[in-house]
Amino acid sequence: MLSKQLEPVIYEMAAPRVARLVLNRPERRNAQNTRLLYALNAAFDRAARDDGVHVIILAANGPHFSSGHDLDEIGSGDTHRNIRSETPVGTWCGFGCAGAEAQMAYEKEAYLGLSERWRNIPKPTIAQVQGKVITGGLMLIWPCDIIIASTDATFQDTAVDLGVCGVEFFNHPYELGVRKAKEFLFRSNVLTAVDAEAAGMINHVVERDALETFTLSIAEEIARKPLFALKLAKEAVNAAQDAAGRGTVLNAAFGHHQLTHAHNMLVHGMLMDPTNLKEQKSRS
Ligand code: ZN
Repeated sequence: MLSKQLEPVIYEMAAPRVARLVLNRPERRNAQNTRLLYALNAAFDRAARDDGVHVIILAANGPHFSSGHDLDEIGSGDTHRNIRSETPVGTWCGFGCAGAEAQMAYEKEAYLGLSERWRNIPKPTIAQVQGKVITGGLMLIWPCDIIIASTDATFQDTAVDLGVCGVEFFNHPYELGVRKAKEFLFRSNVLTAVDAEAAGMINHVVERDALETFTLSIAEEIARKPLFALKLAKEAVNAAQDAAGRGTVLNAAFGHHQLTHAHNMLVHGMLMDPTNLKEQKSRS
């Protein structure tokens, strides 16, 4: 039991044909360090490769789904050391290089690369969300096909407050629509679950004590359907987004994101504008 508690991600079968991956770093509000991200990737791979799994739920232990990237790991520069003990999913290289080259390599692999990879898993995925989802936390739920949130869930991208132009997986316009995405970015404001549902980002909002049961009931309903048809339905919807240029938009935004990091490094000597960083760190 002790070793299970120390795993950053728990893998369990929640029901026949339904795998549940559980973020398990509640003492840090499930802040994402390199170890957690690659443990999650391994868990997604395991579920994707198991023909007995039709639906994947992504859940989180503790009161909050995720406070975002682990700013202690980023601030110490350990991201670039830690990723060299993981197996990259992409072919981008240069993790040990100097300056912007290494930063771009890390983020293209561990942030944009992993989130896009999870978005393309050819099985239905459902995010089960409670509490706060802050900045990098959005990069865990947005790749999922369906998002179910409890009434206490809130969503925020603080990147602009920190001198950066939005999280690395720039799916904002596709989650919120263009106008609400702009306000969400410009103001770094908190969206409630009801706000997010109204904007089309959330499928269902339920009471906190019903979240797990309701999510599982949706997963079981979908899991009874033929997997091949589910896979191809997902592929077709994703293709509609991609044919409209989504990949081009995400890559352009990722380039802008790297420019803001390089700018902050030149002006402030760090990746983010430090003015609002202390408040952000207190949340993770
Ligand atoms: Zn970044």
